[in-house]
Amino acid sequence: MEKKNKDQKLIDKKGLRVDGRKTDELRPIKFEIGLLNKANGSAYIEQGKNKIIAAVYGPRETHPRHRALRDKALLRCRYHMAPFSVEERKRPAPSRREIELSKVIGDALEAAVFVELYPRTSIDVFIEVLQSDGGSRGASISAASLALADAGIPLRDLVAACAAGKVDGQIVLDLNDIEDKFGEADLPVALMPQSGSVSLLQMDGNLSQKEFEKAFKLALDGCHQIHDLQKRALRDKYSVKNEVLEDLKGQKEG
Ligand code: ADP
Repeated sequence: MEKKNKDQKLIDKKGLRVDGRKTDELRPIKFEIGLLNKANGSAYIEQGKNKIIAAVYGPRETHPRHRALRDKALLRCRYHMAPFSVEERKRPAPSRREIELSKVIGDALEAAVFVELYPRTSIDVFIEVLQSDGGSRGASISAASLALADAGIPLRDLVAACAAGKVDGQIVLDLNDIEDKFGEADLPVALMPQSGSVSLLQMDGNLSQKEFEKAFKLALDGCHQIHDLQKRALRDKYSVKNEVLEDLKGQKEG
């Protein structure tokens, strides 16, 4: 983690943050879809310094069998931080935080999946955080939802997620690790943009009602921006490229 001394401000006189962003700016985001051959679906996200891979298996037979659900697929999620993903040594055993995040990320994703179409099966979502820098639950959800789409699993919508919060008394979008640690509040949100449904809302720290409303709106704006990037990543991966179309046309005419 970057170090911060006691008197260092998290927002400077020009209104810029420790990484040079404006208060309402997301970190740079990059998606890659379908990078793992063995999984049914996969996606990778870089959001600032976060680097996260999501892999999806299923719908497939449930093991152990007694966990299968009669009326819908069992969506299981494992969020795991690689021991080398943070500067301090991270114990390899699942932490309470990883167990909590696995649960809330799974719930945020399940809201978008037509689980009722696949009774008795399981859909397994594995999330590996290779490098972590704040806001990893949101980035994990955005990547995992693309991995579900890549697996061909019918979805009501993509789920886009990011946090807003309060730093040096100001409401900011997409907190990095240092802002998360030394800021006043963090509000992660996951959104299904077509319906406007929110499938994750957590809060850490203190916000007044007015601040909460401002932060919530800012987080939703961030989710909409991420949704546009998700759609673009899917189009880049799956739309038939113009050159291919030209080739096919050429073959037909020839
Ligand atoms: P999120 O990643 O969604 O913001 P938290 O607010 O719980 O989740 O964590 C904030 C950040 O703290 C993480 O992104 C990570 O960079 C850091 N962090 C979490 N767990 C550890 C750990 N065991 N050791 C060092 N840093 C950690």
